[in-house]
Amino acid sequence: MILPGFPPKQSKNLSRACPNPDCPLSGQSGKGNIICHSFYITTQGRRRLYRCKECGRTFCSTYGTPYDRLHKPRSLFDEVVHMCVHGVAISAMAQIKQMAWGTVARWLQLAATYAERFNNRMLKGFLIHELQADEIRTFIGSKKRVIWVLTTLEVWSRLWVSVVVGPRNFRHIKRVILSTLQRGLIQHRFLFTTDGFEMYEWAAKRLLVGVCIFGQVIKKRRENRVAQVDRRLLLGTNAELEETLFHSEDSSTLDTSFIERHNLPIRQGSAYLGRRTPCHARRTEFLVGHMALLTTYYNFVRPHMALKFGKTLRTPALQAGLAKKRFSFREVFTNQPAFFLFVLVVLAARHCRFELQIVSVRLWESGQDSTTLA
Ligand SMILES: [Zn+2]
Repeated sequence: MILPGFPPKQSKNLSRACPNPDCPLSGQSGKGNIICHSFYITTQGRRRLYRCKECGRTFCSTYGTPYDRLHKPRSLFDEVVHMCVHGVAISAMAQIKQMAWGTVARWLQLAATYAERFNNRMLKGFLIHELQADEIRTFIGSKKRVIWVLTTLEVWSRLWVSVVVGPRNFRHIKRVILSTLQRGLIQHRFLFTTDGFEMYEWAAKRLLVGVCIFGQVIKKRRENRVAQVDRRLLLGTNAELEETLFHSEDSSTLDTSFIERHNLPIRQGSAYLGRRTPCHARRTEFLVGHMALLTTYYNFVRPHMALKFGKTLRTPALQAGLAKKRFSFREVFTNQPAFFLFVLVVLAARHCRFELQIVSVRLWESGQDSTTLA
């Protein structure tokens, strides 16, 4: 029985889709095929079980999220992920939470997979105004196995656009630049600045001719201090550079200060990247997973102090127009494309209804009948 004033029970499940790949309605939400089936008891309380009327398969409310088959509270999972992106090592987390090292490592790998998926899906279609690229040196296992974390930053929105872990060679430089270009939109020639590594010049002259104004900042150090700074313009003319800098809200000259400052939250946010620490990564997959978690946290969860407008603190994704609010890790992990489609459909339907109401009111005011429109 449906109580007056309450929506039908089925309407709550419109955002859910059948996970069975053999089902004709697999992955399609809003079809009315998902119904509430029953509950099952866990150590954390009871969870809802859903059923697809089309294929008859049942699935639980946490299906398709990292919380599926989790034998601990979801809040503990979120807490472990939060500790990870604040630079706490896995062994320290295992000690604090009285858990096995392997469980924490497995949770973090799982969280990294979902976070990377979310970041790849959401981080698209922002405007590239000014780009800076840099690398962080670290090692895997022993100090002889040097590895680099290559990053690009969109300066205006402070978006951490792309990250690649691997040797510092042309292939990886090309990969990080192409990944950045695939995600962003180019409406005008943007300013691209890097350090003096020669591979950037090769990549820029092969991939970015006519797309950007490219310059390098070469710092010469003496006794661990910067003694001389050389700025080289390699793509574009001086007049074009001056015009771009005139329109830039952040830079007044060719510099890499924003990406160098950005290296600080990266180093602080990963236990693997601390200096003089025994917590270095033992395997490349672990470092890649940390970077995926940290990228999502930096772009969508953590408010950026440089993006403070009055009392409002924005995340880089908010500033770039990729999100309408600051996300939490719970929302990142439970976020599914089907739910977004459902929200868009509801918003579009409301908008259409509102437009029709306005038309009806205008026609009524002008003394016409609304049926004459058709
Ligand atoms: Zn089904």
